[in-house]
Amino acid sequence: MKTIHNSSLLAVLKEQHQQPLSVVNPANGETIGQVPKLSKNGIIDAIERSQVAQKDWAALPAKTRSERLQRWYQLIIENQEDLARILTSEQGKPLAEARGEVVYGASFIQWFAEEAKRSYGESIPSPSADKRMVTVKQPVGVACAITPWNFPIAMITRKAGPALAAGCSFIVKPAELTPLSAFAIVELARQAGIDKDVLQVVLGESPQEVGEIFSTHPIIRKLSFTGSTRVGSILMKQCAGDIKRTSMELGGNAPFIVFDDADIDEAVKGAMASKFRNAGQTCVCANRFYVHDSIYEEFVTKFDQAVQKLKVGNGLEQGVHLGPVISESAKANIQFSIDKFVEQGASPVSPTQQLDGLFIQPIVLRDVKHDMEGVQNELFGPVAPVIRFSSDEELIDMANDTIYGLASYFYSHNIKRIWKVAEALQYGMVGINEGMVSSEVAPFGGVKQSGIGREGARQGLDEYMDVKYLCFGGL
Ligand code: ADP
Repeated sequence: MKTIHNSSLLAVLKEQHQQPLSVVNPANGETIGQVPKLSKNGIIDAIERSQVAQKDWAALPAKTRSERLQRWYQLIIENQEDLARILTSEQGKPLAEARGEVVYGASFIQWFAEEAKRSYGESIPSPSADKRMVTVKQPVGVACAITPWNFPIAMITRKAGPALAAGCSFIVKPAELTPLSAFAIVELARQAGIDKDVLQVVLGESPQEVGEIFSTHPIIRKLSFTGSTRVGSILMKQCAGDIKRTSMELGGNAPFIVFDDADIDEAVKGAMASKFRNAGQTCVCANRFYVHDSIYEEFVTKFDQAVQKLKVGNGLEQGVHLGPVISESAKANIQFSIDKFVEQGASPVSPTQQLDGLFIQPIVLRDVKHDMEGVQNELFGPVAPVIRFSSDEELIDMANDTIYGLASYFYSHNIKRIWKVAEALQYGMVGINEGMVSSEVAPFGGVKQSGIGREGARQGLDEYMDVKYLCFGGL
């Protein structure tokens, strides 16, 4: 009996697991681990188990779900160093940034553990004497997510936290380039008492295949995606089939504006934080700089001086500010953008040098014009093109001249201008005298082709809940 049982189990496993996926350290090309991939049937099986598990999870009192999430948060914090090393090894970012991402990622679990207890409904003043009206909030059901490689932990916790808090079960497909962090945090969730079918991580034969299953399987009621606008659009179309709810966190083309009344040193500090985090590979990274004519030279000089001090290298080494970029194709794209700017008349403020492997020397480009081709592209690398402007009106038109609308930044000390510009910028987020806006307590998200929905904050929980209206009649 035992043998039969074992062999049939093996057959199932064989059918469900494909060749494992190898994970490579972008700093030196070494293979650092392998993770299992599932066949189509394996993924469908995971979805079916998720549906069963969701019922029990949703039936727990919010307080109990909250306690388990709190425990998960604590375990992530306790394992900060190990997680940071895994993260740097597969993603490349400097260890200090990786440690920061672990804490930032964990903060979403803590925040939504707290919010779990506060998903209030409403009582609505009734327009008729014989009726009473209330709303309750309920989990949407089985939720799934597809996440990118640039924040391998935080992009998962930002979705898993609210999903689990709401009472959904959750399946994530991490980026194929950075799956180790995902498996590591999901293991910690198990240790925190979160059932293995309530929170699952899966990889399939290809991202396209998983994307198609996630967006067409009838059990799944919600798909949350962070990645490119191109893929987000494909997934939304696929999700239209059975009207699945989606949240989309897509591309950006953040302007970073420095007005003539700004504190230039503060602006340089903000520019460094906003541009070079994760070697420029974030969707909220400043993508193009607009600096008032009268302070252009001073800003460009000071900015470049700060950039020349940045140390590029293996993120595990002490004192490194910029790790490698994620892949050969990423490096080629960034180099292509730099060459294109230079071809059109821009020039590097300091001489540049080509670095080996996946490393890129950070660069400030001067004399960039708004109508140059690269200004419309998401650079996703350590390249800072600086454009001149002379009037506020012209500036606002240029800043809004993009299909994207995620983050934007500006520096000014004129209160009238601050309000006018903040209101005129067509972006989901505006940093005012601030280069870093992300926080678990604030709603993160974009307008236009940067996406739909908000993550973090109180709004983040609503993405995973349905409002149900109860009408009591005949009273
Ligand atoms: P990036 O340029 O940041 O890699 P992508 O949108 O290509 O952005 O990738 C983000 C995530 O989307 C990754 O997990 C990737 O595997 C996944 N992905 C890529 N193409 C598809 C697709 N056609 N369907 C579903 N997921 C996809």
